[in-house]
Amino acid sequence: MTDVAIKPEEVIGYTIRNNRYLNVTNRCSLRCRFCPKFNGEWSVREYNMRLRYEPTVEELIEAAGNPADYDEIVFCGMGETTMRLDVLLEVARALREKGARLRLNTSGVANIVHGRDVAPELARYIQSMSVSLNAQNEEVYNRHCNPKLPGTYASMLEFIKSAKAAGADVTVTAVDGLPGVDIAACAGIANDLGVKFRRRVLDDLG
Ligand code: SF4
Repeated sequence: MTDVAIKPEEVIGYTIRNNRYLNVTNRCSLRCRFCPKFNGEWSVREYNMRLRYEPTVEELIEAAGNPADYDEIVFCGMGETTMRLDVLLEVARALREKGARLRLNTSGVANIVHGRDVAPELARYIQSMSVSLNAQNEEVYNRHCNPKLPGTYASMLEFIKSAKAAGADVTVTAVDGLPGVDIAACAGIANDLGVKFRRRVLDDLG
């Protein structure tokens, strides 16, 4: 719950601390039990994340503002940004040309959604990636994330490896407190993959 008034208009770009965030799509190939939007909650802080339409490349670049004003510009929002891969790459390229430091917050489903390894294309422009590992094995992952596509968990692990190999600074995350999720085991997977690990708590967005 929040005591801040929710803005009625949808939000394409929003600021948390020193970072600017972009809300690219509400679509997703997962249906996580803990996802706010599937629990009737569309707000992040005072921002309304429910999009009536998907913003254009031009609107996203404009919403990013001046990269010099922020530590990072983060592709995040209430949906899986890589569902709009072409738009994401175009916006990322344009923002890099303006000197932005970029981060992608993702569920890591891009490879299985697009049917090929797209991590190197993303890493070409995006320096940091935060990937939701969410669970230490496929069974627990499927229970919490309800992937539409079979094989999503294994593909997500391959995405992490490929993004790291392509030079991205990768952090994987898992939400502490979800039934069956073993945070120590998730941290161990991150260690084995040679990437960083961050424990998340529910409702701690951004
Ligand atoms: S990946 Fe994120 S946006 Fe998609 S269903 Fe899960 S929590 Fe929601």
